[in-house]
Amino acid sequence: MTIYDLHCHSTASDGTLTPTALVARAVQRGVHCLAITDHDDVSGLPEAHQAGAGTSLRIVNGVELSSLWERRTIHIVGLFFDADAPVLQEALAAVRAARRQRAEAISHALARAGIGGALEGARRFVTNEALISRLHFARFLVDQGHVSSKQKAFNRYLGQGKPAHVSPLWPGISESIAVLHAAGGMAVLAHPGRYPLTDTAMRRLLEEFRDSGGDAIEVFSSSHTPSQNERFVEYARFYGFKASLGSDFHDPEESYIDLGALPPLPSGLTPVWST
Ligand code: AMP
Ligand code: MN
Ligand code: MN
Ligand code: MN
Repeated sequence: MTIYDLHCHSTASDGTLTPTALVARAVQRGVHCLAITDHDDVSGLPEAHQAGAGTSLRIVNGVELSSLWERRTIHIVGLFFDADAPVLQEALAAVRAARRQRAEAISHALARAGIGGALEGARRFVTNEALISRLHFARFLVDQGHVSSKQKAFNRYLGQGKPAHVSPLWPGISESIAVLHAAGGMAVLAHPGRYPLTDTAMRRLLEEFRDSGGDAIEVFSSSHTPSQNERFVEYARFYGFKASLGSDFHDPEESYIDLGALPPLPSGLTPVWST
């Protein structure tokens, strides 16, 4: 059996393991094929390829693009692209700039809610100067005792509809898909079960993702319940999407499941890695 894990994060975004440490952990856990999919940044990939050389692990290029659909953030995992493609590099730089602007606005909003110094505080957890994520703010809020868990940081401050939520300016999903295709890659809808959508809205998203050229959906994800896994297996079949899977691993303590820990894809689906 070949173990795939096509979604995880390194210190190039909001993960806590370096690409080298992530690759070593994947090798040690018996993973055969790994995609490191940092948020809006591909700077960890050369180190990952170097670390994977000469091991049993195949590394494929990955990224997780922040995108917008009906004013909601939707994550699109890109796989198998040319990481040097200028069209991709430019698109990622624009999203990272939007992240920096959003971080300033989040910090102002937290100040209004009585929590000062949040931008400087979050930056202490940043491991890639170019990339700041809400998870860095969550780690700061926990560290300073404002909340007892990262989940609470999102529920109280950072999540949609909360006092420090700032509407992000990401590209639309069709633009993200087009960029990934222009760079020679595939576009995978990340953890579809995580979006708080009615069934009707989910079908609309899946149809629009398909009609915009989207290639695959993550059917198995650590953010899915077992029944969501089943539901998205059915949706992949129904809409004709290829299937992907990923742990969304960020950190040995923080993450619900470890690298390569998801079950293999059920038969009858076309894996995203099939040619
Ligand atoms: P961002 O992409 O900067 O908006 O931040 C999103 C990241 O924050 C995700 O990739 C997760 O790492 C983390 N995250 C989002 N929502 C939650 C949540 N409810 N609980 C814990 N972590 C979360
Ligand atoms: Mn993350
Ligand atoms: Mn995500
Ligand atoms: Mn992720």
